[in-house]
Amino acid sequence: MEKLFGKRRKISSTFFVVLIIVSTILIIATVYLVGGTKHAFDHLMYLPIIFTGICFGITPSVALAVVVGLILGPFMPADVKNNIPQDTFCWVLRALAYIFSGIVVGFLRSIFVKVIDENEKLYTHNKFTNIPNTKILSSVDFSSYGNKTSALSLIIEKYELIVYYFGEEVYANLLVDIYNALNDHILTHKTIVSNGSNFIGLLIDNDDPNISVREVVQILRDLRKRLKYPIYFEFSIGTEIIENINKQNVTEAVFKESTSKAISSIVRKNFLRDPTTASTFDYPLLADIEKALLNDEFYLVYQPLKYHKQSNVLFFEALIRWNHPTKGLIPPNEFIPLVENTLLINPLSLWVLRNTIIQIKKYKEQGIDIMCSINISPINLYSTTFVNSVQAVIDEFNFDTTLIKFEITEGIAFNISKRALNNLNRLNEMGIDLAIDDFGSGHASVSYLIQLPIKYVKLDRLLTANIMNDEREKILFLNTVKLLKNLNLEIVGEGIETKEHYDALKEVGLHYYQGYYFSHPLSGDGLHKWITKTPKKFLKL
Ligand code: C2E
Ligand code: CA
Ligand code: CA
Repeated sequence: MEKLFGKRRKISSTFFVVLIIVSTILIIATVYLVGGTKHAFDHLMYLPIIFTGICFGITPSVALAVVVGLILGPFMPADVKNNIPQDTFCWVLRALAYIFSGIVVGFLRSIFVKVIDENEKLYTHNKFTNIPNTKILSSVDFSSYGNKTSALSLIIEKYELIVYYFGEEVYANLLVDIYNALNDHILTHKTIVSNGSNFIGLLIDNDDPNISVREVVQILRDLRKRLKYPIYFEFSIGTEIIENINKQNVTEAVFKESTSKAISSIVRKNFLRDPTTASTFDYPLLADIEKALLNDEFYLVYQPLKYHKQSNVLFFEALIRWNHPTKGLIPPNEFIPLVENTLLINPLSLWVLRNTIIQIKKYKEQGIDIMCSINISPINLYSTTFVNSVQAVIDEFNFDTTLIKFEITEGIAFNISKRALNNLNRLNEMGIDLAIDDFGSGHASVSYLIQLPIKYVKLDRLLTANIMNDEREKILFLNTVKLLKNLNLEIVGEGIETKEHYDALKEVGLHYYQGYYFSHPLSGDGLHKWITKTPKKFLKL
């Protein structure tokens, strides 16, 4: 009710108080001047009592009832002229009737105010989450904010997938947790609103939105780790500076520019992702992946590659495996495409790098030289931080980069992004040899290979297996190999399962051979045995 008076509330209250006092005095005077309570003008007194009840509630109306009940009681004669006092029963009854009317009206008013407040809350807050929406902005007091306010639009990505997999209730809990985390941890003046689905808007008293973005990102990352339900969520943030914010100039449009920036960032991210996996993937598994990285549920297996020449350095490809606590062993094809749809692909690739380096160093200490290739995702190359993180890991281990190689499957990222190309060049400059993986399985063409700083090419099993059956495929294959060799690229034949397949490729002459025919991927004892016993025989094959 108070809010209904809006800005004029103070002026209105004073006016009503004066009105009530004046009318009360006039009524009392009237009763006295017309000759006392026997003339019954005392009933007029119900008006100010009811009015007070309507305007100010139960306590002021009962207080007024008691005061005027007394003034019009023992202090007011029944007949002024003859100075005849009132009958006690009469004035007590009258005073009680005043008090009763004050209580009834005040009580009705409190119910009315409650209903209005609830309606107003429904208008400015979400029914399920109780989080304020943008309608609240016009009643926020921004007077303590500085000249420049940061507007941040935070968009929860793929929220429809979270709702689909976990239900609306869990999603509402997630929003509340996000809202509370932001509310509790941003210590400057702020106003947080949400549309109840994927948008959260923040107005923060900070003239540098980047500082606020960093703060929000950190808060949400921390929250993600301590959620009680298995949800992995990602978000994009857009920003804008608002000059001299106040109740009058703030509308929903305050988030327009920052929201469109956040949306463009999502569009850019998704452009690189595979929409087919996004719609079919096992979304709840994502939350497990973040935990798996923390709990060391991943491990690496190593598949040897055979050289065409003699070398003391053994060459392996490191392949990831996931030992899920309840689902058992999960092969990479089931979770890598899922991870590639999220930013988790960066910590995952770095985990592989770090553990491969540890393995190489472990053998080095035993006097055994090995080098390894690891698989990284084209999405890693789109990241602004990935290459720096690779450098940090290399520095941390003071590692000889010639012992590590990166395999990258061909993908649209190379064609469209200068950043990807720039990152490939940086990795190359760090001394890491780069390979195109699964060549021949997709859209990679020889002409685009020459634009990339790559050292070797891994021919897909499908490409190499066909040459045993089809003469024309063989001609095509021989020409491809010739071209690749002319471009000074080294060639790996992948997926060699039989002697016949190996013989056919050996005849063509590749640089490396890899497949079950030589060895399955190995780990632990199997790897150790292989390394200490097999190489000589293997290399002679
Ligand atoms: P890829 O990089 O082409 O790896 C070779 C895959 O072929 C491996 O499967 C390997 O076990 C399998 N393979 C090896 N020799 C043979 C053979 O003779 N015949 C057949 N049929 N298969 C053979 P795996 O380990 O299941 O990995 C599948 C894919 O998952 C990999 O294909 C790679 O694209 C991806 N992947 C594996 N580990 C990682 C990783 O650490 N990071 C990333 N980003 N991707 C990974
Ligand atoms: Ca590979
Ligand atoms: Ca491959």
